[in-house]
Amino acid sequence: MSEEEPIKILVVDDRPENLLAIEGVLDRPGLTIISATSGNEALGLVLEHHFALILLDVQMPGMDGFEVAELMRGSEKTRHIPIIFVTAISKEETHVFTGYEKGAVDYLFKPLDPIILRGKVNIFVELFQRRKQLQKNNAKLNEMVVELERVNQQIREQQKSIIEEERLKVLLQMAGATAHELNQPLMVLMGNVQLMEMDGGIPSHLTERINRISQAANRIADIVKKIQTLRHDEPKNYAGGKTILNLDQPVSILSIDDRDNDFTMLQQALSDQPELKLSRAKRIDEAMDRIDKGRFDLIFLEYILPDGNGLEFLESINSKGVDTPVVVITSQGDELIASRMIQAGASDYLPKAKLSNKALLRIISNALEKANLKREMRIAQQKLTEMSIRDELTGMFNRRYFQESLEREISGVHRYKHSLALCIMDLDHFKLVNDSYGHLCGDEVLQEFGKILSESIRKYDVACRYGGEEFAVLLPDTSIDEAMVLCDRFRERISKHVFTYNRVKLHITTSVGVAACSAQKEITGQQLVDLADKALYQAKKKGRNQVVTA
Ligand code: GH3
Ligand code: MG
Ligand code: MG
Repeated sequence: MSEEEPIKILVVDDRPENLLAIEGVLDRPGLTIISATSGNEALGLVLEHHFALILLDVQMPGMDGFEVAELMRGSEKTRHIPIIFVTAISKEETHVFTGYEKGAVDYLFKPLDPIILRGKVNIFVELFQRRKQLQKNNAKLNEMVVELERVNQQIREQQKSIIEEERLKVLLQMAGATAHELNQPLMVLMGNVQLMEMDGGIPSHLTERINRISQAANRIADIVKKIQTLRHDEPKNYAGGKTILNLDQPVSILSIDDRDNDFTMLQQALSDQPELKLSRAKRIDEAMDRIDKGRFDLIFLEYILPDGNGLEFLESINSKGVDTPVVVITSQGDELIASRMIQAGASDYLPKAKLSNKALLRIISNALEKANLKREMRIAQQKLTEMSIRDELTGMFNRRYFQESLEREISGVHRYKHSLALCIMDLDHFKLVNDSYGHLCGDEVLQEFGKILSESIRKYDVACRYGGEEFAVLLPDTSIDEAMVLCDRFRERISKHVFTYNRVKLHITTSVGVAACSAQKEITGQQLVDLADKALYQAKKKGRNQVVTA
């Protein structure tokens, strides 16, 4: 360490010949001697340099050695620098040195003995070196502790996401298995209904019942099918197999690496896999260009590239929403970089030294499987979310979503001083439609009614199927009079509309109850619903096909 940074010693003496003599004795590689001829000069130098030791002449004109030492003791920056006083006074008078920190002070007597001078200086230099080494080690240890904590945290987070993925996977498999189990009794049920229909001779009052059973069974079958499409393919099992890679489609891989040797190594390691199509980009901008133009299943990424580093590349693809898995190829000892890359979204890393055919294939399979799972998970989650807020028959929002929107809008009324209108529509004598034309016809009427309703409202209004043949609409920022106009227009449109089902043409009407609230009067969502419900009841009572406001 003495080679990298010379150790500095300050020698203070008012006589240049003394300075020269001391320098002559101490001169050796690794030591820099800086000299001062007065106390003042010495104090200036002490602030400027980091000295391992000061050789301080006691008897000097002006400020003497003790004064200099006293001043240095007063400052945090200089109080710990060891001092060797150089003096002509006798050993008996050394009591004047007491009061200085023990170990940080020593003395030499004039005339100076070169051997004693060198010996004492060496002791202090060695002490200084050891202290410096200790400080360095300490700093390194601290850094390592911080880094270890960070890596630990990262591992914990990764584990969490793996557990979450596994949990979702199990849930989806369970849903699939349950759907599968449901299928069997359902088939028995449907088969028997069919047999009964084929047998004929069913009393007429039972025909409608059997129809309903058949329709309900069909709906269950639809639900089962939906659950099954949440995860349509079985997880592929690669681990341990002989040819680990077993994909039906060709896999296209982009290697981002400017070193020819590394790329050749990769090519060779994968040469026995004809289904792997390996392309190459030497720079980040070239890679981005290729990713823009073509689709890749996997990316191998070298950390150091001519126009940036791997982290910058990850940032670029993340910001573009590219979800191609990235495997980082690292050099010896780059594990920390690799862990940073994984934190930034890379899927895995592979040390260059382990770049064998087998390791590569395993890592490709794992990365692809992981990416696949993630994609499926995302789609399944989207489907689940979508399913949980939509009504199955009409595709409109369901009551749960409506309830949430109502709460949100009501709090908006209080906060932003808006008004809010709520309308509830109920189809008139709908039971008759079912009874006359069957349930399927009723279903189609409901679907069409929902479609017309959705077309009749504004983009930010919320319409939902509230219950069987009841629909509800939330109209933000709308007064009761405006809502009344809108509902009446809709009511009229429905009454004139010709619904068709299997060549049957039918007319229906709807009754509507409207309520509204504004910031002037605090009201809850439920109270608003009750008001609209009461108005609807009045509309029915007054003869149907009309709009009544609360
Ligand atoms: P009102 O004018 O008083 O509202 O008479 P209504 O016949 O419409 O009212 P009621 O509440 O007596 O009957 C509602 C009917 O709506 C009964 C039920 O079979 C039917 N219904 C509810 N949900 C569905 C559905 O999803 N599909 C079909 N086809 N019919 C449904
Ligand atoms: Mg009705
Ligand atoms: Mg009803």
